[in-house]
Amino acid sequence: MPRPISATVHLSALHHNLVAVRDRVSYANSKIWSVVKANAYGHGLARVWRCLEKTDGFALLDLNDAVLLREQGWQKPILLLEGFFKTEDLALIDHYNLTTVVHSDWQLAALENAKLKKPVEVYLKFNSGMNRLGFPCEEAHEIWQRAKQIANIKHLTLMSHFANAAHNGNIDNEYRFIQQNCQSIPADCSSLANSAVILWHPSVYTSPINNLSNNNLSHFCHWVRPGIMLYGASPNGQVQAIKDLGLRPAMSLHSELLAVQTLKAGDTVGYGSHYRANEAQRIGIVACGYADGYPRNAPTGTPILVEGVLTKTLGAVSMDMLAVDLKPCPHAQVGSIVELWGNHLPIDDVAMAAGTISYELMCALSARVPVSFITDGE
Ligand SMILES: *Cc1c(COP(=O)(O)O)cnc(C)c1O
Repeated sequence: MPRPISATVHLSALHHNLVAVRDRVSYANSKIWSVVKANAYGHGLARVWRCLEKTDGFALLDLNDAVLLREQGWQKPILLLEGFFKTEDLALIDHYNLTTVVHSDWQLAALENAKLKKPVEVYLKFNSGMNRLGFPCEEAHEIWQRAKQIANIKHLTLMSHFANAAHNGNIDNEYRFIQQNCQSIPADCSSLANSAVILWHPSVYTSPINNLSNNNLSHFCHWVRPGIMLYGASPNGQVQAIKDLGLRPAMSLHSELLAVQTLKAGDTVGYGSHYRANEAQRIGIVACGYADGYPRNAPTGTPILVEGVLTKTLGAVSMDMLAVDLKPCPHAQVGSIVELWGNHLPIDDVAMAAGTISYELMCALSARVPVSFITDGE
């Protein structure tokens, strides 16, 4: 028998979540880039993209992933979120008809000098305060004019990515900064909204950032960029924040109890003896550790389900195992099913207890964990 750990990807949940995003943004006529970077947030790009095929486009980072989608038959837009990495990449962008972010001078120069078969769609990225990628907002007008003159560019979309849409929830300064600097840019398309903006800052995608004339207003188009919400988790780590939308978790992780121990008062558990029993106590040993992608930082008290009963981890997580308290589930025994996260235990709650975010847990699911893909309602 294989080791009893396995992950399940709920394909119908992905489809359901995309529909929920569509419902949310459709009154603004927004289009959707489904963000599938990092192997679709750990869910497996090659297997899951078809559940999201009602999207308007896929956004990702790696050219290989873009080629994979094209080879599997996706013909609609693909956006390279970090743009191209080397000038040579432009040949593939041309060949596979990809939309690319342009965030730096060298990329504009490369486009000025390239010999392409046809012009490409470009997302000009401006830095609204994250200070990772993007042209300085103060130079927005000048950069836009320069880009507009490049024959290899077909159409320009104005793009930015906010630093605080989820965290302190206040993007007023970032938004105002980019609005002030981009007012005079004749963009008819913008893309500013990740999941947190979609959820909590709808004015960003319901009205243009610049002063479009009434004539052009009817052509205004916003492309939202949902990632985490498609996978059924919350951008701010709080599961109640996404309750209203009825998002469904797309990933669950299950294992079993490999062993049961009965501790005496004073006995300790795991490396470093971080947990000490103060009375007799039954504990279970779960076949899941940090080499499976479970967070090693998860402290004693991290929520976990045994036979559907909520309990907690005890002591340090080791490479292949972790320990759980069996007090709330006295009937649990070797072979009992354990849910590490999933439909009955939000990944957000586990991430929160471990001092991280659901994004990291999804992406960290390790290659040694077998994944099954199911399409039922569960
Ligand atoms: C990852 C990413 C997104 C999606 O963010 P979520 O918080 O997962 O919705 C959107 N835009 C850019 C530029 C990204 O890198």
